[in-house]
Amino acid sequence: MNIAVIGTGYVGLVTGACFAETGNKVICIDVDEEKVDRLRKGDIPFYEPGLPEIVNRNVTEGRMSFSTNTGEAVSKAQICFICVGTPSENDGSADLSYVLKAAEEIAKGAHEATIIALKSTVPVGTADQVLELLRSKGKNNIAVVSNPEFLREGTALQDCLQPDRIVVGTDDETIAEIFRELYHPFVRTGKPIFILDHRSAEMAKYAANALLAMRISFVNEISMLCEKVGADIAKVRVAIGADQRIGMQYLFPSIGFGGSCFPKDVRALESLARKNGENGSLLSAILEVNEAQKKNFMRKIFHHFKGKSELQGKRMAIWGLSFKAKTDDIRESPALFVIDELLGAGMNISVYDPSAMQNVEAIYKNRVSYAKFSYAALDGADALCVLTEWNQFRHPDFLQIKELLQTPTIFDGRNLYDPEAMKKLGFNYYSVGRSPVLLNKNT
Ligand code: NAD
Repeated sequence: MNIAVIGTGYVGLVTGACFAETGNKVICIDVDEEKVDRLRKGDIPFYEPGLPEIVNRNVTEGRMSFSTNTGEAVSKAQICFICVGTPSENDGSADLSYVLKAAEEIAKGAHEATIIALKSTVPVGTADQVLELLRSKGKNNIAVVSNPEFLREGTALQDCLQPDRIVVGTDDETIAEIFRELYHPFVRTGKPIFILDHRSAEMAKYAANALLAMRISFVNEISMLCEKVGADIAKVRVAIGADQRIGMQYLFPSIGFGGSCFPKDVRALESLARKNGENGSLLSAILEVNEAQKKNFMRKIFHHFKGKSELQGKRMAIWGLSFKAKTDDIRESPALFVIDELLGAGMNISVYDPSAMQNVEAIYKNRVSYAKFSYAALDGADALCVLTEWNQFRHPDFLQIKELLQTPTIFDGRNLYDPEAMKKLGFNYYSVGRSPVLLNKNT
């Protein structure tokens, strides 16, 4: 098939590469000229494991190309996938302006029988809205399909090539058949393709993300309670997760979720609930707990140093800046919250992350210092915060950490270390949902 993908971000570029990998001819379009220039040179503008190899192979073999000209690029496409951003508006609702603009541009350039597939995460009713827009422009044969994307950054290629399920929202059996054929190579292990109506497909994406975010907030709320009552969330988590009805996934206590999806999608669903006369109280609670969890982490730092005012002039080392491991994405990363709080308290900060340094530098410029490698961030720091669960932070050289820090103190927002081991090693060690390990019991 001839496919056009509008938007070459985390979703668009991965989607385009995976369709090209299965033999389709794919043109990827972006309004960002610099991004397209880089892509044409084989330089992938963001970090996603395995992506450079698959993109460059498909470019070399002539199945994948890039353009900034939507009109021209979509003219031969049988399907145009819209993969542009849908960020939060001030009231929490999804900003659809990029989606609608992309649909208008497709309408101008595409031939009459093309299909627009919405891969961006969009509120219920958006496919109908796009359809109305097309009809108002006299485009009576362009069809619109909801085709929400469920990939996760960090494992995006695997998620795309071997998805748990494909969701397609259309009431047209001919179009459903085209999508079954397109996705057939990805579901050969028997994974389902669900053909739903537009609105159910759109809702399925938001409901899935809200449910996953709810599990994280749930375990985080229990972790806060564990700290108060002397229980250990690490033990509680496995005891509840072993229940087949519950399962282990998305039950890791942390400093809170971030990223470009969970916070904005829960906000958008909450906003949709309110617009439809529902109060969405469970959705609001997911977000409230997430904020509380970040503040709870800060409280431990303030308390350890005997108050926020005592942080003035001290130095904090931070390991991990991306919102989770295996991505450079820092959108709504809890690490940014911690940096802002520590800067606000007058601390000096040195940071290290294997892939997100450039993105953080673009925001904080010279307000923080950027270490070339993980241990360089520690030199002379009063303590270390571990904020992202990158594998390389799991088994560090604790003796070296101890030597480099002014005082052996670690605030672990991801529960990477064992409190007993930290005690033996002689650290003050604060984690999530577990009693702190304190060298001086009066601290
Ligand atoms: P992104 O910000 O990484 O990429 C969006 C791209 O679209 C940008 O490069 C931007 O320049 C481009 N763009 C904007 N308007 C355009 C236009 N009119 N024509 C061409 N290009 C245009 O976004 P993303 O993370 O890939 O997310 C895209 C959508 O997919 C969002 O709705 C998001 O919620 C959803 N989604 C994201 C993920 C994820 O993990 N990132 C997973 C599933 C779904």
